[in-house]
Order: sequence, then structure tokens, then C-alpha cells
Amino acid sequence: MGFGCECGYAWKGTLPEIRLNEGEYLTLIEREQWLEEASEAIASFAQASASGLRDQWFDVTKYFNSQYPRDLPDSEVIHVLLFATRMDKGVHVYRCPQCRRVYIQEQQDTNWWMKNQYVERNGTP
Ligand SMILES: [Zn+2]
Repeated sequence: MGFGCECGYAWKGTLPEIRLNEGEYLTLIEREQWLEEASEAIASFAQASASGLRDQWFDVTKYFNSQYPRDLPDSEVIHVLLFATRMDKGVHVYRCPQCRRVYIQEQQDTNWWMKNQYVERNGTP
């Protein structure tokens, strides 16, 4: 990450730190799009497998290139499909481990972050 929080905490960018404090923000529309695309991709894989066309499916799907091994267990193929259909959606979110301020990426592939901190939510949203 390479940035420091307002509270003085310096991000180290280590894997445990990232795994504990990084997440994703998806809008409801992005989540619906992801579920729809993932379901379609998984269904096409399942149909091809059931029809004995599993190998041919790898040739035509956009989610695996020719370098990818094809002897993967079905669960790994589905894992890749779930991941691949989600990659282009949402933005990263980090929560400072020290003060718990939340940083939201401005948009995908940028290094601009909006900072938020806890506020009490009163009244109507
Ligand atoms: Zn902080």
C-alpha cells in the first residue's frame, strides 16, 4: 500500500495485514451482475461437463487461456469462475488496524482513497 493513516499507523502491506484488514465494496447492482455472470459461467461449465464436452469448453470460454491446466478438479474451475467474474467489479476497502478508519478506493485501478471514520447514524438515512 505504502500509505500511512491519519492516526500514525504505517501500512506495511504484509499478507497477514492485508488479509485481516482489506476487503471489497460492491454495490448491490455490481453484486447482482457478479452473481448473474458467475451463475452463467458455472452453468455453461456444468452443461459442457454433463455433455462430455468439458475439454472443448476450455477452448471456447473466455475465463481460461490455453496456458491453463485442464485437469483441474471441478471445484477449482468453479473457484476460478467465481473469482474471474468478480475481478472487474467493486473497489478495495482497507480498515486501519489501529484506529479502524476505513479507506475506500476511488475507483478500480487507481491509488486514490477516500477516508471515512465512525460517525453515529441518526434519523432517516
Ligand atoms: Zn489509523
